[in-house]
Amino acid sequence: ALSLADFDPELAEAVRLEEGRQEDHVELIASENYASPLVMAIQHSVFTNKYAEGYPGKRYYSGCEHVDVAERLAIERLKALFDCDYANVQPHAGAQANAAVFLALTNPGDTVMGMNLAQGGHLTHGNPSNFSGRHYRIVPYGLDPETGLIDYDEMERIALQTRPKMLIGGFSAYSRHKDWARMRAIADKVGAVFWVDMAHVAGLVAAGEYPSPLPHAHVVTSTTHKTLRGPRGGIILARGQGEDFYKRLDSAVFPGIQGGPLMHVIAAKAIAFKEALLPEFKTYQRQVLSNARAMAAVLQQRGYRIVSGGTDNHLMLIDLSDRPYTGKDADAALSDAHITANKNSVPNDPRSPFVTSGLRIGTPAVTTRGFGIDECERLAGWLCEVLDALEVGGETQVAVRARVRESVTELCRRFPVYRW
Ligand code: PLP
Repeated sequence: ALSLADFDPELAEAVRLEEGRQEDHVELIASENYASPLVMAIQHSVFTNKYAEGYPGKRYYSGCEHVDVAERLAIERLKALFDCDYANVQPHAGAQANAAVFLALTNPGDTVMGMNLAQGGHLTHGNPSNFSGRHYRIVPYGLDPETGLIDYDEMERIALQTRPKMLIGGFSAYSRHKDWARMRAIADKVGAVFWVDMAHVAGLVAAGEYPSPLPHAHVVTSTTHKTLRGPRGGIILARGQGEDFYKRLDSAVFPGIQGGPLMHVIAAKAIAFKEALLPEFKTYQRQVLSNARAMAAVLQQRGYRIVSGGTDNHLMLIDLSDRPYTGKDADAALSDAHITANKNSVPNDPRSPFVTSGLRIGTPAVTTRGFGIDECERLAGWLCEVLDALEVGGETQVAVRARVRESVTELCRRFPVYRW
C-alpha cells in the first residue's frame, strides 16, 4: 500500500507539522485535550466502513452484529460513568446532541432560556447566528456585573416573566459551580424542561469533582472530547424520565437530525468511557482542578483580574478590559510565544466577539501531558510576562516572547504528549 507521504505529500506534511505543533506548544484552550493512543487508533479501524442506521438490535442494514457490540459497550459504560438509565452515543458532536434536544422537546417559536453567549453560554444555546437563535424566541440570562457570578434571582425573575418552555444550564466559559438544584426549581416554577449541556465539565462530573447535573436535569448533553478526553463527539443522557421520553430523544437523533452513526467514533467513545471509569481518571481530574487553581493564583498575584475572582473548575476567564490591548492582541502574542489560548468576551465586553477584552485558559490538556502545580505556576508566570510586555511593546516585547518561547519548548520536550 502507498504511504500517506507518497500518495499525498502535502497532507502528510500538514500532519507532520501539526504533530510538532501539538508537542512543542503549550495547549491552554479549555475545550481541548489529547485523546489516548487507543482512542485514536480505533478510529482508523474497519468500523469506519459500516452503515448502521437505527439502534443496536434494530438496524436498517444487515451486518451490524459487530458494530452493535461497540455501541452497546459505549452505552453501558456511559450509563455506569454518570449513573443514569438513558444514554445515546450517536450524536456526531456536541452541537448535534443539542440540536436533537431542541427537536425532541420543543417546537419552533417556543420561548427558550439560555446563558448569554457573551457571558459564558454556547452558540447552540440561542445565539442569533445559530439554528437555536433563528428558530426560537430566546431569552438570555447572565452574570451579576459586580461579582461575575450567575444571578439566579434575575434568572428567576426573567423566567417568571417570559415563561420559557425550556431552561438551559451549561456553559463554555464560566469558572464556578452552577447551582443545578436552584435552576431546576426555577424550571419547575414555570413548567419548563431543564436541560444541562455539561460539555465543558463532563470529565470532572464523571470523576465526582464537579456537581453532577443528572439528579436535577430532565436531560443532559455533552461533548466527549473536552475534559472527558475521548474522541470528538456528542452524547445525550438522562435519569428517571421514562421510556416515552427516551424514545423521543432517540428519534430526534435518528432519523431526526442524523443518518448513519459514525461507528468508529462510537467505538472510540467506548474506549474513552472505559478509561474514564479507571481510578487514574479521578486522579487526573483532581490534578486538572489543582492546576487551574494554581494558575489563577499566580495570575491574580501578578495583577490580572479573573472573572468571578477565581475558579472551581478547569478554566478561567482573564479580564483584560482595563488593559491597553485587546483579547485578540493577547491571543496573538501568546501564540507567538507558543502558548495557545483563546480570546474570549468578558461580561459587558465593549469589544466585538472577534476582538474581545478577555482570554480564556484551561488546564485539561497540559494536565494530560503531565504538568503539575510547579509547571503550571511557571507557565502562568510566562503568560504574565508576555502580557506585561504587550504594554511595553517594541524590542522588549519581541525579546520576552523569544525567551518565553524557548522556555515553553524546553518544558514541552520534558513532557511529550505522544512521543514517549
Ligand atoms: N456545548 C458547549 C457547552 C460547548 O462548549 C461546545 C463546544 O465548544 C459545544 C456544545 C459544541 O460542541 P461541538 O463543537 O462538538 O459541536
